[in-house]
Amino acid sequence: MKQRLSILGSTGSIGVQTLDIVAENPDLFEVTSLAAGSNWQRLAEQAVRFDADCVVIADTSKYEALKSALAPYPIKVFTGEESLRQMVRSSEVDVVVNALVGYAGLHPTVAAIEAGKKIALANKETLVVGGDLVMRMAAERKVPIMPIDSEHSAIFQCLAGECSPVRRLIITCSGGALRDVPAEKLADVTPEQALKHPQWSMGAKITIDSATLVNKGFEVIEAHWLFGIGGDRISVLVHPQSIVHSMVEFDDGAIKAQLGTPDMRMPISYALMFPRRASRPQERFSFLDHPMLTFAEPDRAKYPALDIAYDCMRRGGTAACVMNGANEVAVAAFLGGRCRFTDITASIEYALERAAFVASPTLDDYAASNAESRALAEEYLASRR
Ligand code: NAD
Ligand code: MG
Repeated sequence: MKQRLSILGSTGSIGVQTLDIVAENPDLFEVTSLAAGSNWQRLAEQAVRFDADCVVIADTSKYEALKSALAPYPIKVFTGEESLRQMVRSSEVDVVVNALVGYAGLHPTVAAIEAGKKIALANKETLVVGGDLVMRMAAERKVPIMPIDSEHSAIFQCLAGECSPVRRLIITCSGGALRDVPAEKLADVTPEQALKHPQWSMGAKITIDSATLVNKGFEVIEAHWLFGIGGDRISVLVHPQSIVHSMVEFDDGAIKAQLGTPDMRMPISYALMFPRRASRPQERFSFLDHPMLTFAEPDRAKYPALDIAYDCMRRGGTAACVMNGANEVAVAAFLGGRCRFTDITASIEYALERAAFVASPTLDDYAASNAESRALAEEYLASRR
């Protein structure tokens, strides 16, 4: 039986690479449904090529264009958030690949869990914002959440077959595009500079998050929820070559690491095929081509976002939701040339100092906290103009 996939965010970096895996394994997967934000042309092409039953476009202004492009085909076309949730709940879907970006990924993940669908999760913001609620719901309904994020996939692979306690998770970090830019020059960095990630080609938002180290902070929170490990036992290690994708240290002192060329199709295929692995003969790593693997402490003064994320994790409740909401607004402003690079972390600090704190949030509390933190970040950015 083929696994029937619903791919949310199919036109983005992870979505497109997920479809590469489907194309490489036509006997294992079929595409039931696809969803995207606004790129209706690419969504239409994908739907036709992969013979999807249904598509959802979030940007309502693109609905008519998409509908007429797909008129010759038996593909249903919808728009709006409720359609996205209905799409993941469909009885024709076995696995939901959540490759949406930002807070927008949380509610579809919850809908997928409620419908008992296995989830392949790239949208780390789901766990940053609502990890507590989401992991409890998934455990109650026995829904597997398979990590796509490369560090978490690495940790998951290191944990396979182990039943002894874990001493420490070591999350590796490339250092982002601005690794070699001195701290005092960060205020003058342009979006073009910050978008040049040294190792990975990814969507714009996560590339900026990698440059601020917000992404690494989010990954610590993500690991905390996925693997149930306290923040004091999760460390971050700068590893510029991005060959060691992360490590697990056990109580006997042994450390397991997962290595390979930086290619997201590896963790995507592992999330979809676990406990099996994909056959990818083109994937060959040569140690001799990479004779130097180096490691260093992150510069916590240059990148305050890392400790802010640890602090949000310790506080729990809506703290990380506030960090995420303010970050989304500030990253969009930076990319649009409306604020400085250093205003991103400053917006997060401003919002965290002022936002209401809810210790045991419901889904509605997260929505309110997200809205409040976004408004606070806007307020901060307006005061800087
Ligand atoms: P991206 O910007 O390239 O793609 C995002 C996708 O989501 C696009 O298809 C976009 O149209 C769609 N989208 C955005 N808002 C939407 C909405 N409201 N409704 C429906 N669709 C919407 O982003 P990406 O780099 O593919 O990242 C996706 C997620 O995966 C992020 O959470 C990111 O942190 C995570 N991730 C990405 C990578 C990577 O290599 N790109 C690696 C690890 C984790
Ligand atoms: Mg990652």
